[in-house]
Amino acid sequence: MTDYPHLLAPLDLGHVTLKNRVLMGSMHTGLEETKDWNRVAEFYAARARGGVGLMVTGGMAPNAEGGVFPGAAGLFDGDDIANHRIVTDRVHDAGGRIAMQILHAGRYAYSPDCVSASPIKSPISPFPPKELGEAGIRKQIDDVATAAARAREAGYDGVEVMGSEGYFINQFLVRHTNKRSDDWGGSYENRMRVAIEAVRRARQKAGADFILIYRLSMIDLVPDGSTFDEVVQLAREIEKAGASIINTGIGWHEARIPTIATSVPRAAFAWVTKKLMGKVGIPLITSNRINTPGVAEKVLAEGCADMVSMARPLLADADFVAKAAAGRPDRIAPCIACNQACLDHTFSGRISSCLVNPRACHETELVIEKTPLQRRVAVVGAGPAGLAAAITATERGHSVTLFDKAPCIGGQLNMARVIPGKEEFHGLVSWFEQMLADCDIALRLGHEAKADDLDAFDDVVIATGVAPRDPGIPGQDRDNVLSYVDVLAEQAPVGPRVAIVGAGGIGFDVAEYLTQDHPGPTENLPEWMREWGVTDPAHARSGLALEGPHPAPPARQVTMLQRKAERPGKRLGKTTGWIHRATLRMKGVEMLSGVNYERIDDTGLHVSFGEARETPRVIAADTVVLCTGQESRRELADALAARGVCVHVIGGADVAAELDAKRAIDQGTRLAATL
Ligand code: FAD
Ligand code: NAP
Ligand code: SF4
Repeated sequence: MTDYPHLLAPLDLGHVTLKNRVLMGSMHTGLEETKDWNRVAEFYAARARGGVGLMVTGGMAPNAEGGVFPGAAGLFDGDDIANHRIVTDRVHDAGGRIAMQILHAGRYAYSPDCVSASPIKSPISPFPPKELGEAGIRKQIDDVATAAARAREAGYDGVEVMGSEGYFINQFLVRHTNKRSDDWGGSYENRMRVAIEAVRRARQKAGADFILIYRLSMIDLVPDGSTFDEVVQLAREIEKAGASIINTGIGWHEARIPTIATSVPRAAFAWVTKKLMGKVGIPLITSNRINTPGVAEKVLAEGCADMVSMARPLLADADFVAKAAAGRPDRIAPCIACNQACLDHTFSGRISSCLVNPRACHETELVIEKTPLQRRVAVVGAGPAGLAAAITATERGHSVTLFDKAPCIGGQLNMARVIPGKEEFHGLVSWFEQMLADCDIALRLGHEAKADDLDAFDDVVIATGVAPRDPGIPGQDRDNVLSYVDVLAEQAPVGPRVAIVGAGGIGFDVAEYLTQDHPGPTENLPEWMREWGVTDPAHARSGLALEGPHPAPPARQVTMLQRKAERPGKRLGKTTGWIHRATLRMKGVEMLSGVNYERIDDTGLHVSFGEARETPRVIAADTVVLCTGQESRRELADALAARGVCVHVIGGADVAAELDAKRAIDQGTRLAATL
């Protein structure tokens, strides 16, 4: 008997039966563009071996003008088909099924040659699109259909036609981007024609015994998007046109409402798909922020959908389904929805990976093999760097002792997890605990390792992390001046008016912690929807609440400062920085740049501005919190090196600048792979 009867139930599509209800959603990983087809094949084959029911590839362009950027991968000729065959064969050999996503970017293409319904530039691209004429529109539809036929030739089990997230087809559907007055604009019947024709022609060209998924935007979250009646009307037409499955799209890329970030509640949009259940005869897939088998099972058991799409969770753990089926969900490496190694990489032109699983998309390059020679390895520090090193070294067969002076593992992750909107870090620490419990590691918590403890080991890995940087501000020794560690780890009391010195990742997190009541809205879906102004699309077009965002009042009055003249938060995550900035704006946090810290006294924090130290100002504050960066803790590494011990330094102990858990885990894993 399984705990996941709905999730693991087969899904009969007529000509084919999927072995379970898990779809790996489409992700642009950048792998296809490497042209290393063995690497692409291994990425998908690993997930097929891990038991996923059906996978969808990253978006493949149907033609040059539809590519997300010039040179984006597609299926244009015989060579492409042969290359994709390598992938599909490997997936089938591994017992999996795979569909190719056909993605026409329309005005989202990063190219001066982009095309769309109307010549309206998107806010997230510098290029205004060219308005297509009748022949141009027909060509785009033909090219989508041809791509479907080529996908079949390349051995795919099906295709997904991308009709959501604000891409080309979506751009025709709504007046926000379609201002045409011909047969492809105006009435909804006209605006739907591209979507319907693309599906109808793709079905015609690819044949009946081929999976055809249509990704339908069920809640656009942009002004002048679809009403829910229109969504239902479109879904019915898409079914008639020959789709086998409808997948859910949530929000356009340009929407200013977070849809997949870690601060979004789990399964936050499953209710949207549920509204469509029973209105069409084909299966529906729901998606967004579903990251554990328990959440997925609940969504299906509650009748929200017939199938669940999870994309990033399959990056975090290729064996997600197999572990759930084996009754070991606690061994699934959790996707914490941080975007740090997946979407942030994609949007900066780097190959995707995963913060918790550096092997994701690097399966052929980062190989964890059994060691021919067991060594005695000491790892000092059970933060993410030390944990990754210790677990990987043990998996390889080394004898590992892991020290931490704290009574628990996790290092700074224990501060990250108390931040409202970062609750997923709890799951990451629990997963590390489970991995330690399952492997044969000698764990010495509450023990500050000294050089004398470490002489007997063959290798010593120093993962002692960082210490907060001392900014040397006159008056900082006053009782009302705290460090972020005092606030987050020691839970020191904080007054109603706060000045935060430092606007890096930790400064922003501390500001969120101090302005929100606990628990924050991530734990409360109705409150989160109110905060961001999301509503039922049956009540307001596009799902945008007429009254707009309605955040809870701030718990404290906060001013955040930095010395750099640049916009605070500029260096935060590429795909999530805007969410942090918007959240703090909603909480009325004042952000000051270009300041000099003069002193702290009874009246507050005295600052001046610019090189000339002009316009002095006092930030009246009951508490000043220092978030002024960090410095490596290397004393032990230096002492051991002086004794001639073989020392490896990783994580924050190695380099404190721009340290994050992604680098810490990656470095720990890579080091242990070579010991
Ligand atoms: P640490 O996590 O600092 O761990 C070092 C460990 O070594 C500690 O447990 C310490 O007790 C132990 N130690 C030190 N000396 C000794 C000794 N002599 N003997 C035994 N043990 C010792 N990163 C992200 O990627 N994403 C985020 O969203 C994010 N949010 C954050 C939010 C906050 C509030 C904070 C504080 C950090 C956040 N980080 C985030 C940063 C991330 O947590 C760190 O980059 C990461 O933990 C560094 O890992 P590490 O293993 O090098 O060091
Ligand atoms: P940080 O991002 O380097 O920010 C340090 C802040 O302190 C900056 O605002 C800096 O700005 C200021 N500062 C530096 N030296 C100072 C000095 N001597 N006096 C006064 N101010 C000073 O570091 P952090 O905020 O401590 O974060 C540590 C690491 O954790 C970062 O690398 C970050 O990536 C990671 N983290 C990531 C996330 C995430 O969401 N991904 C969240 C939290 C933390 P000025 O120099 O302009 O004053
Ligand atoms: Fe999930 Fe973060 Fe990994 Fe992306 S990088 S898959 S969001 S854990």
